[in-house]
Amino acid sequence: MNEAYLLKKSRGQIAIEVVHDSIFPNKCLFCCRVMDDLREIFCGGCADYAACDYNDEAVRHVIFRFKYEGKRMLARRMAEMIFRSLGEIDADCLVCVPLHEKRMKERGYNQAGLLALELSGLCGVPAYDGMTRVRETARQFDLKPEERAANVAGAFGLKEGFCVAAKDVLLVDDVLTTGATAAECGRVLTEAGAKSVKLAAFARA
Ligand SMILES: [Zn+2]
Repeated sequence: MNEAYLLKKSRGQIAIEVVHDSIFPNKCLFCCRVMDDLREIFCGGCADYAACDYNDEAVRHVIFRFKYEGKRMLARRMAEMIFRSLGEIDADCLVCVPLHEKRMKERGYNQAGLLALELSGLCGVPAYDGMTRVRETARQFDLKPEERAANVAGAFGLKEGFCVAAKDVLLVDDVLTTGATAAECGRVLTEAGAKSVKLAAFARA
């Protein structure tokens, strides 16, 4: 049943990426400077951003382009940064933090799902879109820290038939702010029998 929620790339998407890589030069994720080395994620001048502190303007700019300017292609290098920072991924499955259906329609993609999919390609652990938002929530950023837990309480569930029993789960999101969303998703996964739940995010506030 979990197979129904497996995140995978279509042939079309893979073809687009191949064309993209052959046309566009490799640019630094943060400052967009062209780099000679195709494997590099960021230039020497931006090496300090490796920790990905959300309070840093350059880090916030990457996330803004990724979430609100439709730059889906950034997911690959962002996932690579997550992968490098984690070192080793010891999990049975990756699960993305879900987006509400309404926001999914507006944006056309779940940024956490794109990151989970790319991370899956790097570590070989399958990624699933197995969680759902059962009700709409306000944007966590618009709220005071003390309001955030209540905002997401009871907001998440598992999709029908999605099973995490006895599994080590790595939850994937783009930004970890107060951790209220991650904690609530973690609670749902743990209640569903997950053996452990850890979080991977591109940036931390
Ligand atoms: Zn740079």
